[in-house]
Amino acid sequence: MAERRFPALEWELVAEAEQHLRSVANLVKCHGRAILSRFEITPPQFEALLVMLRHPNLTMGELCQRLDLASSTVTDLVDRMERNRLVERVRDPEDRRVIRLRLLPRAQELLDAVLEARRAYLADVLRRLDPVDRRVLLRSLQRLDAAMRGQEVQAPLGGRTVTGRGDWQATVAKERATAGCTPAGGGGELAMRLAIIGGTGVYDPEILENVREETVVTPYGRATVRIGTFRDQEVVFLARHGTGHTVPPHRINYRANIYALAALGVQRVIATAAVGSIRREFGAGHFVLVDQFLDFTKNRVSTFFEGGEEGVVHVDVTEPYCPQLRATLHAVGRELGIPVHNGGVYVCTEGPRFETAAEIRAFERLGGDVVGMTSVPEVVLAREAGLCYATVAMVTNYAAGLSGAPLTHEEVLEVMASNVVNLRRLILEAIPRLAAERSCPCAAKPAPLRVGREGQQP
Ligand SMILES: [Zn+2]
Repeated sequence: MAERRFPALEWELVAEAEQHLRSVANLVKCHGRAILSRFEITPPQFEALLVMLRHPNLTMGELCQRLDLASSTVTDLVDRMERNRLVERVRDPEDRRVIRLRLLPRAQELLDAVLEARRAYLADVLRRLDPVDRRVLLRSLQRLDAAMRGQEVQAPLGGRTVTGRGDWQATVAKERATAGCTPAGGGGELAMRLAIIGGTGVYDPEILENVREETVVTPYGRATVRIGTFRDQEVVFLARHGTGHTVPPHRINYRANIYALAALGVQRVIATAAVGSIRREFGAGHFVLVDQFLDFTKNRVSTFFEGGEEGVVHVDVTEPYCPQLRATLHAVGRELGIPVHNGGVYVCTEGPRFETAAEIRAFERLGGDVVGMTSVPEVVLAREAGLCYATVAMVTNYAAGLSGAPLTHEEVLEVMASNVVNLRRLILEAIPRLAAERSCPCAAKPAPLRVGREGQQP
């Protein structure tokens, strides 16, 4: 903490800017590399060629300076480029002691081809963005460029104010999703589209390979995730209560968690939750793919949109849990012979205490099927972020008053432990079955309310 030399607000802005810069830099790096590899040219060679194109007849010393590299490194680079017939060393006709670098025709052809491929890639990405996002992206890049050069930033173009992180994040996430690119350090060309939020009893992404930990700085705080691969697909794992179950339901930073997943390019979230059953048919060890919730939480912020710059949003939650994810999970569960029910009403209580017997009787009359403490606002924030979200609720016990005995957390953990294998099989078998494209309505993100327009009254 001693390193924090900025006041609190500034620090948040710095962290956010850093995060965005890093994700853009990763995108550029990832695709730049893919394009270059088609032309059998390395990134340093490409850089050097670009410099030589802009500044013909450079000396070796000048090239070192422009590339900001040691002379031995540049000598080595030029040697290799000479062998590849990209450049040649020629003596200066006026001063024979000076060696100058000249591009050969093959280098020119190569550069043209690479630049053309890069333009084609950008054109393709831009074509897939909707016009508003495209404008926002171009305008943001222009402003960023101007700001970093220390220039005055002009008023926004096109009559639309460039709003803050929401739009920017969406643009980056979209571009990433379109391109199927991995963030920092991934190196591969895997699509990172799915996240698992592990609830009670699910703390470890054991089944993933090459797991690395990443901390995402969000405007709401930090979120630590582990990223690994499963059957060639990159999967993000987030332990909702922390790895040692140290965070109670009412203290979970739901906004940081969902924001971090969206920022990592996640499109689908499968969450697990330990629940109590209100219905006799849903016994311990059964899985319920809940499709509705009743919200009895009291002190949780359940939106990313708190007015001001973010605007006001009333998100539609007619169908809060993704129908496509649920259908896949249900089909897989039945094939595996696991007791799984598609549909159920999740009653979310504030906790951390369990419910009274009277509350459970009331929930039953209201149509509740299972009771837990975490699905709200997690599912609501996922809706706001345009993510597909499904909860695999695992019944660990009958709710208060339905069984004779008092409820304990130990009992919950015990049942979880003995059924966690089924839970894991269910989720993992579902992953490869998920279609590459989403055909559900979840991706449609709510737009901030515009006051004064017809039909928009809350
Ligand atoms: Zn969906």
